[in-house]
Amino acid sequence: MNIEELYGIGNSTKNKLNKLGICTVEDLLTYYPYRYNIVNIVKINEVVEDEACTVKAIIVDTPKVSYIKRNFNRLSFRCISDNVIMQAVIFNRAFFKNNLTINREVLLVGKYNKLKNLFTASDIIFNLENNRIEPVYHLINGLKNSQLSKFIKENLSYEISSVVPIEYQNKYNLLNKNDAIKKIHNPKSIKDIKDAKISLKYEELFEFMFKINYLKKQNTKTKGLKRVISESAIDAFKESLTFSLTPDQDTAVRNLFDDLTSGYRMNRLVLGDVGSGKTIVATFAIYLNFLSNYQSALMAPTEILAVQHFNNLKTLCEKFKIRVALLTGSLKAKEKSRILEDLKNGNIDLIVGTHALISESVTFNKLGLVVTDEQHRFGVGQRNVLRDKGVTPDVLYLSATPIPRTYAMTIYGDLDISIIKTKPACRKDIITKLVTEDNIKEVLYKMLETIKSGKQVFVVSPLVEENDTLDLKSVYKLQEKLNLAFNNNVSTAVLHGKLKAKEKEQIMNDFKEGKTQILISTTVIEVGIDIPNANVMVIYNAERFGLATLHQLRGRVGRGSSEAFCFLVSNLDKERLKVLENSNDGFYISEKDLELRGSGDLFGEKQSGEKVFKIANLKEDVDILLQTQKDSEEYINNKMYVNNKYYESIIEDIKFIN
Ligand code: ADP
Ligand code: MG
Repeated sequence: MNIEELYGIGNSTKNKLNKLGICTVEDLLTYYPYRYNIVNIVKINEVVEDEACTVKAIIVDTPKVSYIKRNFNRLSFRCISDNVIMQAVIFNRAFFKNNLTINREVLLVGKYNKLKNLFTASDIIFNLENNRIEPVYHLINGLKNSQLSKFIKENLSYEISSVVPIEYQNKYNLLNKNDAIKKIHNPKSIKDIKDAKISLKYEELFEFMFKINYLKKQNTKTKGLKRVISESAIDAFKESLTFSLTPDQDTAVRNLFDDLTSGYRMNRLVLGDVGSGKTIVATFAIYLNFLSNYQSALMAPTEILAVQHFNNLKTLCEKFKIRVALLTGSLKAKEKSRILEDLKNGNIDLIVGTHALISESVTFNKLGLVVTDEQHRFGVGQRNVLRDKGVTPDVLYLSATPIPRTYAMTIYGDLDISIIKTKPACRKDIITKLVTEDNIKEVLYKMLETIKSGKQVFVVSPLVEENDTLDLKSVYKLQEKLNLAFNNNVSTAVLHGKLKAKEKEQIMNDFKEGKTQILISTTVIEVGIDIPNANVMVIYNAERFGLATLHQLRGRVGRGSSEAFCFLVSNLDKERLKVLENSNDGFYISEKDLELRGSGDLFGEKQSGEKVFKIANLKEDVDILLQTQKDSEEYINNKMYVNNKYYESIIEDIKFIN
């Protein structure tokens, strides 16, 4: 059922809820609180003067209401709280009068003035049990916590069935889904929250691990394309490069060669820090695929990255006579249909693009390899769509989110993994410095010095939400400020997600060609962008980002030969941000991030808006994760899913891969 069918949800509320990703009642009920306000009841003689508190009180006499002026009334009554008789007052709640019967016990929320023996209440809680623990939700502008909480509570009777197989539900004494949902949104005790969380987390992780383990089992058996490629191809490729591969790149290249000549389908993830040189490794796979007369598709998460890949690959492709084309949303219809036609007829060997490559209208002649860059942006379900387009194409994922191996093994359990740790020798560490806003002059000075020496500067200003117009304003404000600081003597440009693809491309090109000296952007372009001439990055409100994201961001500088700098501007969260000052190792940083913030940032949910988990947190819940890994494996190996409609339907969904 969609939420607009619910009572009390009008168009504007619906739009707000949609922004939070809530479209159905099920979405609403599985929109979990991220924390709780626990009403802490104190004794009246322990109350700190002028500090908000909650006390118990018993009504002593009938309240009086006085109407002071229009829309302003005052309700006052005497009550007794922990043996203290006091006067209580609350404004504009005349309607409470009839509920405040003599001898009734209530909770008063407000401030107590000892001298006047007066309690000024901001709220009165009548249901002593129910309202002690208040769920707190992530919200957007214009939607109040109390509103959202009310919508949810009003619909708690809606039935949602558990997907945890009954065997495991019993084994661990888990709550059924309805009870868990009731308890998580309307807990009566801390234990309720705990029980609900364990059950819901188990459910979420079990389903996730079921998919992973099922895919893994299938993939290990899948026959792939037959390719006969001579080993000399490896040397031919290496010789064509202007640099020599790092040892880890070398290993990855060997892995790819073995995969592609094994007769089984390749399903590999190349995991490497920003700047570790994953693209060239992928290019090698594309080259081998081309040698065996198949087409390749390279998919990037943003158009900017797709364009960049295309431009970078062009030269190398020319060398090998690989016919490459770029397919993006901003192409003219005529051009697009020509490319689609060529692709269909086999006149293109490599197509580079965004998600658009998944669209129905794209038909391949002989698709043999699919490369997906920055894999973490695509969900488990999504990433399989494209490979359905070929017969049994090999699949390669690239990810710049360096995660600890144990986690990688679990969440990418269906993939083989090559890890690139060593960086190209020419790359130096990025000198990172934490500065407070008071010291911004130092940063401005460095920016000016950089520009004067002919180099360029990236400035990043975070948006909480890509849709947030308020925040968008702040990016333009920042541009104004910088223009002012530099007397309008440097050229600046703003880049953000709301711009049209053409505009973005123009702005990026201007920056790439050095026409713009400072590029102020939101995080839309956080990954992969390669501009060797930019060697200073300034990140405002750095505390808003996870360490892994910050590390990726700063990876955009230091791609040239000169020394690179990154300034993290923030007045908060110094301890955490210091990790970046001290280390340039993405794997170490991601481990720290995991320790300090949990899994959220690891999967880029902040940037992509695509949450991998609604309630599970890979750091906190590693025990549950490992248990569900075992359980789901057992569930699959013993074919316990037979006759479980839900899991059979999941299998149907992922089966088409073969
Ligand atoms: P990422 O892993 O972040 O995708 P890229 O593949 O974009 O990194 O590589 C970053 C830069 O390093 C590119 O300009 C690339 O040409 C260069 N590069 C890659 N491998 C090497 C190497 N072994 N030696 C020198 N430069 C390299
Ligand atoms: Mg890359």
